[in-house]
Amino acid sequence: ARMDTAELVEDLDEAQRRAVEHGDGPLVVATGAGTGKTRVLTSRVARLIDAGVPPERILLLTFTRRAAAAMTSRAAAMVGDTALAQRIAGGTFHSVAHRVVAEYSQHLGLADVTVLAPDDIVDLIDLLRSEHGLDGTDRRMPTSRAIADIASRAVSLERPGREVISEQFPWALGHVDPIMALLRAYAQRKRSRGLLDLDDLLVAWRSLVRDPDVGARLRARWDWVLVDEYQDVNRVQADIVQELCPDGRGLTVVGDDAQAIYGFRGAGAGQLQEVLDRLPHADLIRLERNFRSTQPILDLANATRPEEFPIRLFADRAAPAVRPELVRCENADDEARAVADRILAAHADGVPLREQAVLMRTGSHSALLEIELTVRDVPFKKFGGIGYLETAHVRDLLAAFRVVLNPHDEIAWYRLLTRHRGLGKVSARRLAGVLADQGIAGGPEAIAAAPATARVGLATTLSLLGVVDGDSPVSELVEACHDAVSTLLEQHYPDWQRRASDVTAVAEAAGRRSDLRSFVGEQAIDPVAASGDWAGQPHLDEDWVTLSTIHSAKGLEWSAVHLLRATDGAIPSDMALTSRAGLEEERRLFYVGLTRARDTLSVYAPDILPTHPTAFTARHVQAKPSRFLTSAALACLDVVDTRVQAPLATAAAPPSPRVRMDGLDALFA
Ligand code: ATP
Ligand code: MG
Repeated sequence: ARMDTAELVEDLDEAQRRAVEHGDGPLVVATGAGTGKTRVLTSRVARLIDAGVPPERILLLTFTRRAAAAMTSRAAAMVGDTALAQRIAGGTFHSVAHRVVAEYSQHLGLADVTVLAPDDIVDLIDLLRSEHGLDGTDRRMPTSRAIADIASRAVSLERPGREVISEQFPWALGHVDPIMALLRAYAQRKRSRGLLDLDDLLVAWRSLVRDPDVGARLRARWDWVLVDEYQDVNRVQADIVQELCPDGRGLTVVGDDAQAIYGFRGAGAGQLQEVLDRLPHADLIRLERNFRSTQPILDLANATRPEEFPIRLFADRAAPAVRPELVRCENADDEARAVADRILAAHADGVPLREQAVLMRTGSHSALLEIELTVRDVPFKKFGGIGYLETAHVRDLLAAFRVVLNPHDEIAWYRLLTRHRGLGKVSARRLAGVLADQGIAGGPEAIAAAPATARVGLATTLSLLGVVDGDSPVSELVEACHDAVSTLLEQHYPDWQRRASDVTAVAEAAGRRSDLRSFVGEQAIDPVAASGDWAGQPHLDEDWVTLSTIHSAKGLEWSAVHLLRATDGAIPSDMALTSRAGLEEERRLFYVGLTRARDTLSVYAPDILPTHPTAFTARHVQAKPSRFLTSAALACLDVVDTRVQAPLATAAAPPSPRVRMDGLDALFA
């Protein structure tokens, strides 16, 4: 049964209701954390559907696929019709770009859309380095990952590579020419092989909307465009939104400048203002009340909030509130124990694990905690940082999928070839070229050209993969790839047995899909979301703690939040201290972390930290609580000290004997 519109807006406050009921003129909702921006967006979608708008004419853009799924299911609950709500067009910018680009690949001159995951880019740049003789010993030459970063920033900031290097990678200035040569080779190779990285996907989408013919068709497709977390769009994404809604009709964007945390990707604080400047007739609605957190948590957030944002958050909730705590610990082990203690105590108090999250600046900060939770049998699931799908052996399987789907995929060939015993980088590169040019038909030539020790292995791989092609049924395709990769694991990884079951689990998940191509594309775009349906991961009905980077926790909330490692060097990160802009971005990130908590918030600050997250040989260094914990912030925190007060080493004289041990002296007299 459909609900009527009155019911839809019933619990909303005045300002929220205005936003939900706003007509088709451009609307900007710019306001603080937890004030209901996402809720307003969802209600607005539900109201449109309720008013009879066909859901496929609504484009809902979010930052993560998890967010898109959550909003769709909430809208479904509101309109009381899941099938209807599922027709909403939406997802992340990248996933929508992927669909649009696949649909219009012919227009872009692409026979096939192959998306490079971030790690594939590193592989490709490695390959190009060795072609250019740049994989030598110069230790000051940036890593392939850093070069991939430069390429990405140049595209998303729309700045010449040279400027990006001199402004953001000044330490690499001595190598501008070779870096530029690699960047050119990277762009050129992607073009010649029909490969797109994540930035290219967005650029391709933008080119399509800018094309007079395709653009008109795309504009006609969606009447309503709604974007969450608009503060974090980059230049290209902002252009796409602008091209889709040139006069702002049907456009709603919501966001919070104080939470802009993707500056390094080319988002700039001020994206919301830009929309207001471009569309002077847009309505601006500010929401005042925070519906998420208790006042003591907001007091802390207000005290650490970046100065340039005047919004102060006030809690709507009247519930009795606990003050947030700062937990001082001696070292990282104690920190892990303290977090686990608190998680279990809250759980015993009735807070389910799924209502608790541990947030951190960098994925590696939870290494010791993961061990502690495992030992104590506390289930957890980790988001952000290196995920399951990004592990080397799982990517080997994905590379196999890619070569059978597209035998001209040179990087995937290169990756598989480097897994063969007896094949070094140089021969792998050469053979990858042969196979990418000729496909499986180039097999005999490649085998003949391979070093003698590698020939049998290579022949095995090629014969296993050669029985299928892109038109084979998914089950056969998956089986062939699974067999080929299983053999390679044994040649390449000393701990191959442990890895084999992961590869099988992923193969099974892929085998359940009707379309392997979309499976492979999705995992390149959003590995976290794509791993949602894995065997081996906790099931949805199980209770588990979320471990997440702050970046991946954006927009989400939990009853209890544990903010790990609030020390200088961790947050703000050492890496961000070279510029004022970098430091301010860290401050916003800290603010995002704090504002995820509904009821309780614990911030942890150990005194001594290892220089490396897991190595037993790591050195240990002294750490200080984060500079963001100013005296104003400390005034909002209860300090809990778990450090053992070491007794002062007093050199007291031994007590004088009251009982003499008789007889011994006599023995040695
Ligand atoms: P963020 O900036 O972190 O993305 P947000 O502004 O998008 O936050 P929401 O996630 O939409 O905020 O809402 C925060 C919480 O407040 C959610 O639990 C939501 O259900 C709740 N909420 C929003 N509006 C109301 C309301 N009018 N009455 C009660 N609860 C509300
Ligand atoms: Mg939100």
